[in-house]
Order: sequence, then C-alpha cells, then structure tokens
Amino acid sequence: MSLASGRTYLAIPGPSVVPDAVLRAMHRASPNIYEGELIDMMPALTADLKKVARTDGHVAIYISNGHGTWEAALANTVAPGEKVLLLSTGFFAKAWGWVVEARGIEVDVLDFGNGGTFDLALVEDALRADATHEYKAVLAVHVDTSSSNRNAFAPLRQILDDLDHPALLMADCIASMGCDRFEMDAWGVDVAITGSQKGLMCPPGCGFVFFNDKAAEARSRLDRVSVYWDWTQRANPEAFYQYFSGTAPTHHLYGLRVALDMIHEEGLEAIWARHDTLARAIWTACEHWGQDGPLKLNIQDPNLRSRAVTSLSIGKPDGRRLRQWCADQGGVTLGIGLGMSTEEDPMSEGFFRFGHMGHVNAHMILGLLGVVEAGLAAIGVPHRPGGVAEAAKVVSGV
Ligand SMILES: *Cc1c(COP(=O)(O)O)cnc(C)c1O
Repeated sequence: MSLASGRTYLAIPGPSVVPDAVLRAMHRASPNIYEGELIDMMPALTADLKKVARTDGHVAIYISNGHGTWEAALANTVAPGEKVLLLSTGFFAKAWGWVVEARGIEVDVLDFGNGGTFDLALVEDALRADATHEYKAVLAVHVDTSSSNRNAFAPLRQILDDLDHPALLMADCIASMGCDRFEMDAWGVDVAITGSQKGLMCPPGCGFVFFNDKAAEARSRLDRVSVYWDWTQRANPEAFYQYFSGTAPTHHLYGLRVALDMIHEEGLEAIWARHDTLARAIWTACEHWGQDGPLKLNIQDPNLRSRAVTSLSIGKPDGRRLRQWCADQGGVTLGIGLGMSTEEDPMSEGFFRFGHMGHVNAHMILGLLGVVEAGLAAIGVPHRPGGVAEAAKVVSGV
C-alpha cells in the first residue's frame, strides 16, 4: 500500500510548483511571432518583470536556464583576461565561478563556507587592496540554494562606494526573486539575474538579466560580445526577438504573463510576507524535531536564512531514506542535499532540502511538514514529536 496517490507536491528548490493558470495560459496554438498579441504584450511584460526586481533599469530575456544568465551577465560586462571578485557562501557561487573561469576571466574567490554570510571586513580588505581597480565586478549569490543562506547586498554597495571602487555589483537572485525581499535599485545592485522556474512560477527555460545604465556602459566598453548573449537588442521590447534574437519563447511568455499578473495582484510585499511566515513555520517545526534527535537547520542564524529554500542535515544515509519515504508514502518530493559533501559523506546524503518558493501556501507547507514528521517516525530517526503543531502555531499567528 502507498499513501502517495493524489496531487503530488514537488518540494524541491526549483523547478517549483507551476500554477494551473500558468499551465492553461501555455496550452494554446503557436502564435504569430511577427505581429499581433505576442508582440503587443512585450512592453508591459518587461515593465512588470522589472517591478519584480525593483528596478527602473533594463531587462534582457534569454531562452536559457539560470546557467545561461550566469554567462549573459559576464558576457556583457567583463572581457576575457580581466578579473572579478567572487564571494562564496555555497555551491552555487562556486559554480558561477567555474563559468567565470571558463570564459577566460580571472577570478579571486573569497570563500565564507556553507554556514553563514560574508565577513564584510574581508570583503573590504580585498577591495581596498585592489587600488588599481583590477576587479571589474563583484559577484555574489543572494540566496545560495545549496546552503540556503541569504546574503545582504546593501553593505557590499556601501563598501564599493566608500572605497570609490568602480566594480559592478552582480547578484544571482535565481532562488530568491519573488520569494525573498530583493531591491535592485535601492540596494545598488548593477546586474541581477534570475530564471523562470523558481519564484516566478513558470517552467524552466527563460532567463532574465536585469542591468542598469552603469552596466550598459560596461557593455559598450567591450570590443565584442557574442551575438546570442549580447543584451542590447534583447533589452528592447520593440525589437525583442523579432529581428535580432531568434524565435521568441512564445509559450513561456504567455505563462509568464499570467504569473506576473498573479504576482502583482497579490503584491510583492504580501508575497514576501507569505514566504516569511511559511519559512518560519518550517524552521519552527525543524527546530522542535531537532531537540531530541539529529535533525538540524544548516543555517543557525534566522536572520541569515532564505525564505525560499531550507537546507537540513540529518546524518548519512537518513537524508536519502527520508526523501525516499516521503516520495513513496507521502506524495512529497524533497530536494537532495547539494554541495555539502564531506570526506565521510561525499554525496551529501546526510542532507536534504525543502523548496518553498513561489506558488506555495499554508496547506502545502503544513502538509509537507506532516509527511516529514510521519517519515521521521517511519524510518526511525529520533526526534521530538509535535513539530507540526508548533508550525501550525506560526501559521495561526497566535
Ligand atoms: C537554480 C539556481 C541556479 C541554476 O539555475 P539553472 O536554471 O538550474 O541553471 C543558479 N543559482 C541559484 C542561486 C539557483 O538557485
């Protein structure tokens, strides 16, 4: 017997749950890509996208996943042979660093481990030591999906400004946009990237690169940019895809239109508050269970936690066993541990993650936690019972 029949919940940190309304919007015949509805909807679509990033700058749309936006951000701003500073708090920053190196760009990595955030004094030292301004950009991840930490960007802007350092500030917001507060312009971020399949609630396949005028200037300084990654035409909704950028991602755009309508109808502030409450419900349950057993939130300081993804350690091989039980018996798929490997646990089997990004509500999160509590009991992991009841208190607000 299995208890998994019924509507399943893919609770991994991307791709996230796609709303039925988005799926319905994509279920249609191919539109004309040269004139009519699709072309007409682009100016409002790009304007609404920029509102999600909280920017008055530009946005270029690519048919790509997040990896593509890693390439795009660099291709338009940093030439091979130049240098960037990368701040790492997890696997995704490191993976962005590999893309930097593969482009022939030099990268200095400040590695702050998997358990917290940047040491700003070390960031300042590194930038101060760069008196000749070799660093063309400072790269950092807003929410690192492997460690589930959250980094602040305003302090990085402050350091750059205090030192009069001209490096661009670049933020990977792939896991966080539409989930955790992000204010591109107010925080002084020059380039921000995201993908369609996390907080934006669409299938994977579209990548978005937001950039300001300072970053556009960096683009014009480069001798050449490969045609596909050049953001110049892609950021112009009039010209978008029609002449220069190839076939538009037609169905994605229809889905995105509905997703953006949903986002702006609920309101970004309300969305951030929803993610915050649901995340706190998850943390509360996990901390309760962990009082009598091995389960631990990876990020100890609540102020440094993502509201979109939660990374947990439970000990090898119980991360894998718990995921298996929840999928087979609960209809809930948990995320694998990623990038947390140690010598004893090379595959990060002692870790797992919850994705709680985008189209998630109280009944999904309480259901998720209920299945996990049942799973802990079923596979025999010691824990203090009653975590779900504690989470319900957070949801009830009393
Ligand atoms: C998901 C994710 C990526 C990679 O995105 P893909 O679409 O899988 O290429 C990069 N950075 C962060 C922070 C992510 O969460």
